[in-house]
Amino acid sequence: MVPITRTVPAPSSVRTARAPRRVTRPAIPGVVLAVIGLGAMAVVSLWWRDTPVIHGFGAMLTGAGQVLGLLSGYGFVVLVALMARLPPLERGIGADRLARWHAMGGRYVISLVTGHVLAITWGYAVTAHESVTSEAVTLLTSYPDVLMATVAWFLLLGIAAFSARAARRRLAYETWYYAHLYTYLAIALAFSHQFADGASFAGNLAARVAWSSLYALIGGLIAWYRLVTPLLMFARHRFTVAGVRPEAPGIVSVYITGRDLDALGAEPGQFFRWRFLARSLAWQSHPYSLSAMPRPDMMRITVKARGDHSGSLSSLRPGTRVIAEGPYGAFTPALSGRRVLLVAGGVGITPIRAMFAALPRRMSEGITLIYRASNPRDIVFRQELDAIAADRGAVVHYVVGSRARLGYDPLSALYLRAMVPGLHRYEAYVCGPAGMTRAVVAALRASGLRRRRIHHETFDF
Ligand SMILES: Cc1cc2nc3c(=O)[nH]c(=O)nc-3n(C[C@H](O)[C@H](O)[C@H](O)COP(=O)(O)OP(=O)(O)OC[C@H]3O[C@@H](n4cnc5c(N)ncnc54)[C@H](O)[C@@H]3O)c2cc1C
Repeated sequence: MVPITRTVPAPSSVRTARAPRRVTRPAIPGVVLAVIGLGAMAVVSLWWRDTPVIHGFGAMLTGAGQVLGLLSGYGFVVLVALMARLPPLERGIGADRLARWHAMGGRYVISLVTGHVLAITWGYAVTAHESVTSEAVTLLTSYPDVLMATVAWFLLLGIAAFSARAARRRLAYETWYYAHLYTYLAIALAFSHQFADGASFAGNLAARVAWSSLYALIGGLIAWYRLVTPLLMFARHRFTVAGVRPEAPGIVSVYITGRDLDALGAEPGQFFRWRFLARSLAWQSHPYSLSAMPRPDMMRITVKARGDHSGSLSSLRPGTRVIAEGPYGAFTPALSGRRVLLVAGGVGITPIRAMFAALPRRMSEGITLIYRASNPRDIVFRQELDAIAADRGAVVHYVVGSRARLGYDPLSALYLRAMVPGLHRYEAYVCGPAGMTRAVVAALRASGLRRRRIHHETFDF
């Protein structure tokens, strides 16, 4: 094995692993969706209360435009809250599901804003017996803050175009991320328009106070969890790179030292967002899972080079300071069953390795790890995994070779059932590329595993 750049104690492994807590997962996603729905109903009732009886097509369009506008303003708050890194959401729902909700919610909110603009303009035009174009000019030039709100709308359309899947694939993550920051500018530009022109807020001080408080609360939470908390964590734990170790071609482990790392409260399977304070990396923060759980003075991540950031970590110098945000993620073992199946694809082994090392021996009646790689050179942690398996009496299957070369899919339901007798009685955890994860989840379902017993995470947003 290639020597690491500094002597680093062995990672937490067989002996040192901390058993995960028994987690009884509350139905957090359902509760959060219900709260979002109740908020939307409250917004509609605010509009209802302040809307006089509607007469005529123009008034109907205007009314529809008003409620769409209110729902857009509320939608912004929800979208930002989902990405505010609130620990209960990050841990209870999971970062990848939150990101999916955010992306889907973003499409709804853009549609609401666009519907608001079109319906209001058309409704005013009908009521004033004007053409839509001349009414649009009147709105832009005579109504307070409409011009700013229109700039906000165009900004949002631009961000939506950047976020469309086809464009997203061609963009570096950073470009996409910084384009997204313009959302805050759009929200700020549109805020005063809501009070200046919104019929539901005119003469309703209570509504104005409640609405402003909602925005202020979300702004405060963003500032606290995204800016202040990481700095406080840095001051307390003093995260510092201890060394970098090549694990396989294009894959390195980064050892991070610090104070009281075991007090971080991280669970196996979780991740942090890491900002390495080196010259070219300090402005980026990227998510990487723990591949070894924190001990008081050391923890480890393992990273595959996929682009600028991940590719630069091999040249990190010992002593580099690190700002770490987390722990995040709901991909943690629930320990509700006695048999656990772990399936890792490629670098998806990182959280799975941490889980594997932390499973208690009482599960030895059925711990199986399936590690899928296209090439034998891509397998990492082989010695560690074999040592953990020997200690636990667990089974490890290294499933190596591309499907094209093998001539079959070794993770199909048929082969999974052959590798894991009694598969339908297992609790399964899957982490790997999106395509592989989808296929394995489908194969597990086809093998009789209930949906609630299958947990998965992909590294793609
Ligand atoms: C929860 C989670 C845990 C992860 N854990 C690991 C890990 O343990 N080991 C590992 O090697 N990789 C992990 N990743 C993936 C890792 O974050 C990306 O490979 C890395 O950020 C790529 O950045 P880049 O600048 O090198 O490449 P870029 O060229 O910027 O991006 C390459 C690809 O990575 C994705 N990506 C980039 N940055 C991010 C980001 N901040 N959030 C989400 N997706 C991004 C993009 O979709 C893009 O397709 C994890 C991702 C997530 C979401």
